[in-house]
Amino acid sequence: IKYTREDIMRICTEEKIRFIRLQFTDITGSLKNIAITTSQLEKALDNKCMFDGSSIEGFVRIEESDMYLVPDLDSFVIFPWMDAPGRTARLICDVYRPDGKPFAGDPRSVLRSVLDRAAKMGYTFNVGPECEFFLFKTDEDGQPTTDTNDKGGYFELGPIDLGEYARRDICLVLEDMGFEIEASHHEVANGQHEIDFKYDHALRAADDIMTFKLVVKSVAMQHKLHATFMPKPLFGEAGSGMHINMSLQKDGRNVFDDPNGENGLSKEAYGFIAGLMEHITGMTAVTNPLVNSYKRLVPGFEAPVYIAWSASNRSPLIRIPASRGIGTRIELRNPDPAANPYLVLALCLAAGLDGIERGLTPPPAIDGNIFLMSKKELEEKNVRSLPDSLKHAIRDMTQDQLVRDTLGEHIYNKYVEHKLHEWYEYTTRVTPWELDRYLVRY
Ligand code: GLN
Ligand code: MG
Ligand code: MG
Ligand code: MG
Repeated sequence: IKYTREDIMRICTEEKIRFIRLQFTDITGSLKNIAITTSQLEKALDNKCMFDGSSIEGFVRIEESDMYLVPDLDSFVIFPWMDAPGRTARLICDVYRPDGKPFAGDPRSVLRSVLDRAAKMGYTFNVGPECEFFLFKTDEDGQPTTDTNDKGGYFELGPIDLGEYARRDICLVLEDMGFEIEASHHEVANGQHEIDFKYDHALRAADDIMTFKLVVKSVAMQHKLHATFMPKPLFGEAGSGMHINMSLQKDGRNVFDDPNGENGLSKEAYGFIAGLMEHITGMTAVTNPLVNSYKRLVPGFEAPVYIAWSASNRSPLIRIPASRGIGTRIELRNPDPAANPYLVLALCLAAGLDGIERGLTPPPAIDGNIFLMSKKELEEKNVRSLPDSLKHAIRDMTQDQLVRDTLGEHIYNKYVEHKLHEWYEYTTRVTPWELDRYLVRY
């Protein structure tokens, strides 16, 4: 929807909106906001809302911390689950420096600049994410537990699926906010769910992922449940992924579609796949940002481990879903929903465009179950693995110039610093597993 400043003023009056949340996302992918009352709305729409960025992860030092929020008018929406007393709406904002330039630490501006580059080539980048999450019970104090709210499995329904009412309410709220929900279902693990919404251009898709996570958590809480997008909350169970379905559009046509090409795919599609495969190890610290992310990327749970693509099999990193024509797309399967969607989509597009520009071709498809192949077979086919830990992912990130250029020096440096610290925090801990295993034996 396209809104003018006057539309927003009018809707706020008509709908009796009392609060506006001015939202943005930090580099770790956390949604942040400042709430204003409608008395300050004009000021906000004049881009005059300032905040102190010094305490926001990945922002700036104290001396230069003043930032301005520039609302994206088209992101205006009312929060249907928050009504009395006083209704609330939100505006997603770009972050600007006092000198009027976009702030280099704003992930949304990173995505915007790659999208601008694609636009110069005539491309619109469309993205459809598939976000998975868990619903856990809460205790008497309302604190999250690790007890799943049901014992359901893939595509289960009630009375075994005890998440269906929460899931329904989530879908209804999202629809009221303008989402087109395509499907929702119980996932493989107990208490695990997926809700899919229709693809959109990438900036909107990234905004939608942020909104989606907020709505899922908020509505779950109304059902006394804790929703989590942590990639692997339970040992021995499937983790939660965020598959990213991507396509490029030019002059109203899907660029990846070519009825005469091999598998019905165009040269650009193959270039895009090859670019993703070349840069994926450098991107993994962003697509799989947590220590915990790497506990999902293991064999046995439909999550990828090996860098391969297929048009017919779900075990590799990249899959080509069956639909062709306008629905032709590339599905990247390693990202998880803890990732910062702006940075993920920026890197996916940059890597894909690099493959197209350099005319790269991917290695042959691997159509068998890659997890059943021997080490020797994988070596013969030259199949590499994704990084197996956050530490290795950061190492690979520092070796990929395209990733560095795409994120920009500011975010790149802050990100590496932040993630190395996270790794240090984790790896120096003495865990229950170690005590269990070593305390008595040694
Ligand atoms: N949960 C799986 C993952 O971690 C995906 C399962 C599925 O959607 N088929 O990616
Ligand atoms: Mg799915
Ligand atoms: Mg799924
Ligand atoms: Mg999928």
